[in-house]
Amino acid sequence: MARFTGKVAIITGSSNGIGRATAVLFAKEGAQVTITGRNAQRLEETKQQILAAGVPEQNVNSVVADVTTDDGQDEILSTTLAKFGKLDILVNNAGAAIPDSQGKTGTAQSIENYDATLNVNLRSVIALTKKSIPHLTATKGEIVNISSIASGPRSTPEFPHYSIAKAALDQYTRNTAIDLIQHGIRVNSISPGLVATGFGSAMGMPEEVSKKFYSTMATMKECVPAGVMGQPQDIAEAIAFLADRKTSSYIIGHQLVVDGGSSLVMGLHCQDFSKLLQ
Ligand code: NDP
Repeated sequence: MARFTGKVAIITGSSNGIGRATAVLFAKEGAQVTITGRNAQRLEETKQQILAAGVPEQNVNSVVADVTTDDGQDEILSTTLAKFGKLDILVNNAGAAIPDSQGKTGTAQSIENYDATLNVNLRSVIALTKKSIPHLTATKGEIVNISSIASGPRSTPEFPHYSIAKAALDQYTRNTAIDLIQHGIRVNSISPGLVATGFGSAMGMPEEVSKKFYSTMATMKECVPAGVMGQPQDIAEAIAFLADRKTSSYIIGHQLVVDGGSSLVMGLHCQDFSKLLQ
């Protein structure tokens, strides 16, 4: 029997990137999945990938919605319950480093950018989690939040609002993990490093620039020691591990870093010491 047979999962931000790979993996592994995002065309692409993997159409609930809105959150949840009858797994994956409308970075970014960034990366997670708690209590379910290595403790001065949203999300993961385990709900998170997805395009990078960015970063050992760019599948497999009680039942409130070693290197490690000391 596939590992998610009989399980119902909501995966936010599954119209692209990490969420899409996760939805395809979960569905292939037997889950009934709610896929969701704002872009109907890209969401349909996710659905087609799931169907192409041999998953029956009745196992997919496709919801075009903005997860930052009350109506969007309610629709994601109510259609899942109406179609599948319960909820076992919530993957809070939707997120973005929203570009400033004036093109500013750093402390020059606007308060409107702060509001929009915190709204999608933090507030929507809190809201959807709160709405899901009664249903996850009923099934003794799992929550996996998608954070980022940008959450710190290193500085990310160009996009302060994105990284503070993820830092706050990490503390929310720890807080909810302890609060909710008393109801049998496990909460954990993943902190991806650089992963080749639509993330760059959503920041306003042209497709070609985004591709060049990812391929160049992968060649720089001071950025990605593993020497290869992360792929959505790498993160999807880690999400599946934390969402599967059979593989991770004793892991509570953990922040699993999946980054090819990026967060372990400091500038000083990138020097060739043997040469410097000659
Ligand atoms: P993508 O841009 O490829 O995917 C982001 C997803 O989030 C899309 O499906 C998008 O759907 C959805 N989304 C964004 N805003 C909203 C919204 N308001 N309402 C509903 N859905 C929304 O990026 P990734 O797959 O890389 O991002 C997934 C997660 O991984 C994010 O939380 C991101 O912060 C995190 N992450 C990514 C890293 C990377 O290098 N790629 C590194 C570290 C963390 P749509 O546009 O259709 O609304």
